[in-house]
Amino acid sequence: MTTATAAKPKALPDAQTVLSVKHWTDQLFSFRVSRPASLRFRSGEFVMIGLLKEDGKPLLRAYSIASPAWDDELEFYSIKVEDGPLTSRLQHIEPGDQIILRPKPVGTLVHDALLPGKRLWFFSTGTGIAPFASLIREPQTYEDYDQVILTHTCRDVADLEYGRQLVEEVKSDEMLRELTEGGVDKLVYYPTTTREQSPKMGRITDLLKSGDLFDDLGIEGMSPDTDRAMVCGSLGLNNDIKEILEGYGLREGANSEPAEYVVEKAFVG
Ligand SMILES: Cc1cc2nc3c(=O)[nH]c(=O)nc-3n(C[C@H](O)[C@H](O)[C@H](O)COP(=O)(O)OP(=O)(O)OC[C@H]3O[C@@H](n4cnc5c(N)ncnc54)[C@H](O)[C@@H]3O)c2cc1C
Repeated sequence: MTTATAAKPKALPDAQTVLSVKHWTDQLFSFRVSRPASLRFRSGEFVMIGLLKEDGKPLLRAYSIASPAWDDELEFYSIKVEDGPLTSRLQHIEPGDQIILRPKPVGTLVHDALLPGKRLWFFSTGTGIAPFASLIREPQTYEDYDQVILTHTCRDVADLEYGRQLVEEVKSDEMLRELTEGGVDKLVYYPTTTREQSPKMGRITDLLKSGDLFDDLGIEGMSPDTDRAMVCGSLGLNNDIKEILEGYGLREGANSEPAEYVVEKAFVG
């Protein structure tokens, strides 16, 4: 147990054990923790996780569960904010450490919040890929849609690596292939970078507006009859994509009132 986590397992009713940690860049890491036996969630939802503060009180932040609902463990994909109250410490967790996990999943990036459709778009930037890391491993995604398109935009190529490897795993995963009867072949991955040179550069909003995205994928555009979308990025990105989707006639849905698209902030601020 490292001092960085400072969580006292016995004193924590919501303690979960860190099982593995992977650092992708100096700003991004993913980790897996044990799953409380009683925790039920829908792929795409988020929970509050955290560590104990010096004063013994919990310091919690919202985190999308990046693993699918059927997984025995829980996976998270995290930023490292240099002066961030939680992530300046969370980035030092190691297997065997404990974190706090409040078992109350919520969120709008769920299949229930969308009306049936033919094509599902996942628009993500940065750690906003986390809920979609869950949903692209969720068999229902491939049962409900003919085509699933995951866009992920980051500054640098290395920031895409978590998503790139995940898509590769999903496409070659035997169990998922069996569960979806080959449905994972419907998954289209569209990574772009905004700073470092890569095969596809540009903000996803610009690529949407220019029509490049559709040209690249051989798609005519979006229609409320066929297309559904989930968006997870900064507030600004979410608002820009909302405007574009509304322009195509898609309406925002919610758990209580499903419609054609849903959004969730990847972080506050
Ligand atoms: C619904 C929801 C789901 C979330 N899911 C995730 C997730 O799966 N993974 C994750 O890393 N974070 C996620 N976040 C953000 C997370 O709650 C924390 O903000 C983050 O862990 C940083 O915590 P902190 O205490 O270190 O810094 P904070 O004080 O929370 O944040 C400091 C500043 O860092 C920036 N920042 C915070 N989080 C991010 C981020 N993810 N990407 C880029 N800049 C950021 C913002 O400018 C923020 O003002 C989510 C937030 C919300 C609202």
